[in-house]
Amino acid sequence: MVGVMSHNYGGVCGERDAVDFAKRRRMKCNASLKTVLDNYFENFHYEAHLSQDPVQFAYRFSDDRDREIAALFAAAFAYGNVAQILKTLEWLFGLLGASPYRYIRSFSECDAHSLQSFYHRFNTGRDIIALCLALQRALKEFGNLQNLFLAAHNPKATTIEEGLCRFVENLLARVPPEIYRRNKGLPAEAGVRFLLPSPASGSACKRMNLFLRWMVRPGPVDFRVWKEVEPRQLVLPVDTHIARIGQYIGLTKRTTIGWKMALEMTATLRLLDSRDPVRYDFALCHLGIMRGCPAKHNPLKCAMCPIQEVCTR
Ligand code: SF4
Repeated sequence: MVGVMSHNYGGVCGERDAVDFAKRRRMKCNASLKTVLDNYFENFHYEAHLSQDPVQFAYRFSDDRDREIAALFAAAFAYGNVAQILKTLEWLFGLLGASPYRYIRSFSECDAHSLQSFYHRFNTGRDIIALCLALQRALKEFGNLQNLFLAAHNPKATTIEEGLCRFVENLLARVPPEIYRRNKGLPAEAGVRFLLPSPASGSACKRMNLFLRWMVRPGPVDFRVWKEVEPRQLVLPVDTHIARIGQYIGLTKRTTIGWKMALEMTATLRLLDSRDPVRYDFALCHLGIMRGCPAKHNPLKCAMCPIQEVCTR
């Protein structure tokens, strides 16, 4: 049995910088940013965008144990273009069947054989088999993923950073290294690492923060399956769309996408909603995904943009 690992992550990832930026931002944060984002959030048609979001796959299940496994797979492969993501997930969920939880608990050589031909951009069948085996070991020891997360989560911390670092570390520790032809230790280049990014590497960890948002936040899109983790501790899932829009509306001054930027944007959003800073994420992200705010400046789109009033582009 692999024990729960413990390392000190305190302060390595820029929480203090993020708070400093947010304090400076507070000086300028007039009511309009909150008013505009609240208005955009409240009038957003969530249902109309679900068909373009990987969270739809977790909606197929009503049991919490199925939902957390479904959500982890849906988030892990949420990279690339939307059409490619949905195609990959449709194929994968065809294999996971009526209960992703039972699929993982009973994962066998026969299931591994069915996954050998799997391919999604940077990841191959070997990586997803590695993930399934790590999840199987984790479920056997902890019963569900929430318990694995809670084993290292600090409920008093400002963010989930430490819990997420250890959650990822503990899952990776359960990957049998033989899959990557190693007797001992997972190689640095193992593709399963790409599926489970950690703040410890400086990555923005968009997909893991997305998974946590789905698990921890209450609706309209998210599930609130993990009731022992507070939404106030979540970190914004930052990708290129969110980073760009975040810069336009003054959530961050950073130009490099990474964990520090994610913390800084979250700290600014905490000024608008201290109990649920990432509640604006789905609406803002879909402004980018659906080309409401294209990377190339488009004055017509800007004229119709619901957050134009606070955009500095
Ligand atoms: S005003 Fe234009 S640049 Fe600014 S967020 Fe809206 S679409 Fe994007």
